[in-house]
Amino acid sequence: MIKLHVCLWVEFVFISIPAAPFLLKMSLSTVQSTVSTLKSCQTDIAACMDMISDVALGIVEAQGMDNSSALKKLEDMILECSRLDREINCFVDSVDEMTAQVTQEPPEAMVNLRNSVKGRFTELMAGVSDTDLQRHSKVVAFKDSVRKYAMQAGQTPDENEEEELDEDIAVTQSQTNFICPLTQVEMVNPMKNKKCNHYYDQVAVLEMIKCKHKNRKTFRCPKVGCDNKDVRESDLELDLVMKRMIQNHKRQSGKT
Ligand SMILES: [Zn+2]
Repeated sequence: MIKLHVCLWVEFVFISIPAAPFLLKMSLSTVQSTVSTLKSCQTDIAACMDMISDVALGIVEAQGMDNSSALKKLEDMILECSRLDREINCFVDSVDEMTAQVTQEPPEAMVNLRNSVKGRFTELMAGVSDTDLQRHSKVVAFKDSVRKYAMQAGQTPDENEEEELDEDIAVTQSQTNFICPLTQVEMVNPMKNKKCNHYYDQVAVLEMIKCKHKNRKTFRCPKVGCDNKDVRESDLELDLVMKRMIQNHKRQSGKT
């Protein structure tokens, strides 16, 4: 469904590029606003990728690593999302590049804009390899979390990594780590800071960063003893394994 959505927007951007030079000024702003709507699709794609990861963790929780065909299907789906995300980036880049060029040239040049964008887009997409798609942070997170969660559930997909992961799990399992250093209550959507490995609740940390940046200040990691003086949104990643562990912990402590 998202794919259709994205294709429609891409087509719409092409349509809004005018064939006649005198429409240039008016339509460039239409193109820009359409491009920004297209960019907003990336938020939906990211949410979709998180959902796919969460379904995968549900499968691992119920069946361990046994249902490999279902996990493979989900991996294909998340790679498809990675491709869509990349497609939007390439498209936005080509529109930006070509419109920047055309505004410096005589209005007649605008006639060729549509073709230039299409050409540049094809060129950029041709340079995207499977490895690039695998490198998408959410694809990496998908694989990591399935692996970690399987280990935690007592499975051993790769024995060499057992030692390192055991340590990981021991740290994350301790209940104090479920508490957000900002809100002092159990996290709902735990985000991991890739720089210092500390966790915060999503709503609280994003609000805090926004607030600090508005006042032209940096946001220091609130974890006691941490020397990370600049927490950025780009360093944060939703940790679905941790989220599941908190939910399970809540369920268990509710029972006793
Ligand atoms: Zn920290």
